[in-house]
Amino acid sequence: MTCDVFALANVGVQGLHPYQPGKPIEELQRELGLDSVVKLASNENPLGPSPVALAAAQTALKQMHLYPDASGFELKKKLAAKLGVSENQFTLGNGSNDVLDLIARAFLSAGSSAVFSQHAFIVYPIAVQAAGARAIITPAKNWGHDLVAMAAAIEPDTKVVFIANPNNPTGNYLDSDAVSAFLAKVPEHVIVVLDEAYVEFAEVADFPDGLGFLAQYPNVIVTRTFSKAYGLAGLRIGYGVSSPEIADLLNRVRAPFNVNIPAMSAALAVLDDHEYLRRSQQVNSAGMAQLCAGFNELGLAYIPSVGNFVAVELPCDALPVYQALLREGVIVRPVGVYQMPKHLRVSIGLEHENARFLIALRKLIEEGC
Ligand code: PMP
Repeated sequence: MTCDVFALANVGVQGLHPYQPGKPIEELQRELGLDSVVKLASNENPLGPSPVALAAAQTALKQMHLYPDASGFELKKKLAAKLGVSENQFTLGNGSNDVLDLIARAFLSAGSSAVFSQHAFIVYPIAVQAAGARAIITPAKNWGHDLVAMAAAIEPDTKVVFIANPNNPTGNYLDSDAVSAFLAKVPEHVIVVLDEAYVEFAEVADFPDGLGFLAQYPNVIVTRTFSKAYGLAGLRIGYGVSSPEIADLLNRVRAPFNVNIPAMSAALAVLDDHEYLRRSQQVNSAGMAQLCAGFNELGLAYIPSVGNFVAVELPCDALPVYQALLREGVIVRPVGVYQMPKHLRVSIGLEHENARFLIALRKLIEEGC
């Protein structure tokens, strides 16, 4: 190509860096000559799929020659009944990532800004930048969102505020009073996204009911996903709940067939698999306790987390530890890109997976990191 294709791209896109995917597990296993590898890197569900969701997805594959239902009629009906809202309040996404992107595309452009916190979910800066808008990043407080600073940072051109609750990669959460006080301060023409990807794991009494804010604050959008507690990460399905007016706008930007047939069928099925959700939560809290006890024994600090992962702080740079763990067949996530160079984010796995990680980590710490 003779022309400068980079110069042709939108200015916002020019500032983006390519996503760095990890190596496929099989490839890594072959390279390391190991029989097994443990992946605790992407906050996936360690239980494997719900059997009923798997069966539903397999049956749905018989319709692979057809386009999916572009309206997601059945799933919206079921979610509406479960969550106590109306069908016209939903926006279905190819993962909740897709919904976050739709929000950015619908509300942000050059000349507008979005507020989010330092150490918040990495997709916010990407979506904001790709839309050509300005990012206003507020300093974190105790590794979490400082909602007072975030409210104060809103400028006349601010259209969207992104809040991850619980936050990834830190795992901490904002309680009900803090979110209420924040919403009362935000001008009504600013959209507030409450990103609740990990809400099912946040079993703490003062965790806010994000959906409960919708009646009083029509500028709120709650985003949720089937990727985590419901174990459907690979099928890509999530959703937004908002006022019907906001949902209408987001659905105008949405690609009509953005959610595929097996994903919708599996989501419908897993919503009835209460036992799977219960086990996911139970395995998560047991695994969290196991990892935190291990960190305490090693004298390592960690950020108390209500998600399905925990960020542990090392006495040294985390990157070489990540690489050394990889050689032991344990994949975790370094979070230097989040300005946390001494932390590793570890997803909660099954008991034996957590144990393998802790043993490998102990060895490295004892060797002096
Ligand atoms: N929000 C947060 C805070 C996340 O951590 C993630 C997943 N890493 C997502 C949204 C998006 O998840 P998905 O697209 O799989 O629904």
